[in-house]
Formats: sequence, C-alpha cells, structure tokens
Amino acid sequence: MKKWRVKAIRGGSISADKSGCTHYRNFGVKLEMPIWFVAATNGDLKVLVDTGMKDLDWVVKSGAEPFAHQTAEEETPAALKSAMGWEPDEVDVVINTHLHYDHCGYNAAFGNAAIYLQRKEYEAAFDATPGLRHLYAARYFDKRAVPYFRWKLLDGEELIAPGLLVFPTPGHSHGHQSVLFDAGEGAVCVTGDVAALAENIYENIETNIVVDAGKVYESFETIRRRADFIIPGHEPGIANLSECGFPTVG
Ligand SMILES: [Zn+2]
Repeated sequence: MKKWRVKAIRGGSISADKSGCTHYRNFGVKLEMPIWFVAATNGDLKVLVDTGMKDLDWVVKSGAEPFAHQTAEEETPAALKSAMGWEPDEVDVVINTHLHYDHCGYNAAFGNAAIYLQRKEYEAAFDATPGLRHLYAARYFDKRAVPYFRWKLLDGEELIAPGLLVFPTPGHSHGHQSVLFDAGEGAVCVTGDVAALAENIYENIETNIVVDAGKVYESFETIRRRADFIIPGHEPGIANLSECGFPTVG
C-alpha cells in the first residue's frame, strides 16, 4: 500500500492567552497559535483536512475571533498553491474535523471535492448553545455555501481510502472527528481541536471549549492508542510546511 505524504500548512493565527487552551491553567502566558490545515497525498488522491479561515475582517468584526490574524499568503487557496502546487479544483477529498469557523472557512472553494463530516457535527452546527454560537458561522457550511449533495455525512468511523481513516473524537464539539494517515514515519493523526495543543494530550488536560469533558478524555485515549504522531489544531511547536517530525503522542 502506498504511504501518505502529509504536510501541515499554516492558514493564519490567533493571539491567545494559553489558559484558554489548558482549562484555565497558565493564565497570563501569551500564545500565538497557528491555524493548521493539512494537505496529504498518496500519489493518487489529493486530500485536505480542514479548509482554514476565510474573510479575516468578518471573523474579527463579527466576534468569531477578535484576535485572529491572516496574511494574503496564508489564505487557504494561496497557501495550498505555494505549499503543494494544487489548484482548488484538483482537490478530491475534504475532511472537516468539525465546523468551527477556522476549520471550514474555504469549504466552498473546493468545488470538485467530496466533503466528509460526521452527521452529528452537521446537525450540531445549526443548533449550537448560545455560548458557542459565534464559532459556527453558517455562511461557511449552509446550503448556500455548500450544496447538500457534496457532503458525505458519516455515522462513525470510516475508511476513506487505503491508509486514510476518520474516527469520532467528540468532546470539543458533538460530532468532532480526527483523521489518521498511514504515513512514511508512522500513523499521523490530525487531531482537530479536541487537542488544540500537544500539551492537551501530554498533560491530559482539556481545552476551554468543550461540550462534553468526559468524552474529551476518552478521545485522548483513542488518539494515544491509534497514533504515533499528532498534528493538533493549533500547536505552535510545529513548523509551517512540516512533513515529518510531528509531536509524538507522549
Ligand atoms: Zn474548534
């Protein structure tokens, strides 16, 4: 079986207090957290995991994230072109870990891709509780943005292609999933935001954006069991355009 080549691409960043990612610990420690999306290929398929953040002005002014930053080169289509040489229409598969604004911003741009998401996340995105509503912006995923037939809504674990598995990792959101690639260096897991930082896994500590804390810790266990390496959603320790040397699971 062909191995996957997996590349982490920076699609902007968020200036944050670390306490927001480590359940109120580390108050006063400033973090510049990258927004990661991932491009991967096995030589046949071109795959994206998450599609980054779109319309920085809107993101900042709407209050989705007042401390977000993005250069023109970090906008997903431009970053993807310079990192991989891919045009949006060439992408075969998009996988969303979840539908927060910084993970699905450019879904509409990938007009030829099937978009894989857990059904539970699609439903939860239209029915968020008041404190989390600002993270779900329908402009990125409703039927005006993405025709319904383009979604591949999943009900649990699914092998998308040989060596490419998605599996539910709920807790940060109801229908959150993570993605596992059989890559040259081992099993590489794009964790999404259930682990925003590698430290969430190492210290066994949840982030502050949680819908079910018990499930977060179960998801950590699943990731530890299945992965050799992790690409957490906002880990500052990963270098832009890395293809190897990702953080280990512990
Ligand atoms: Zn999130």
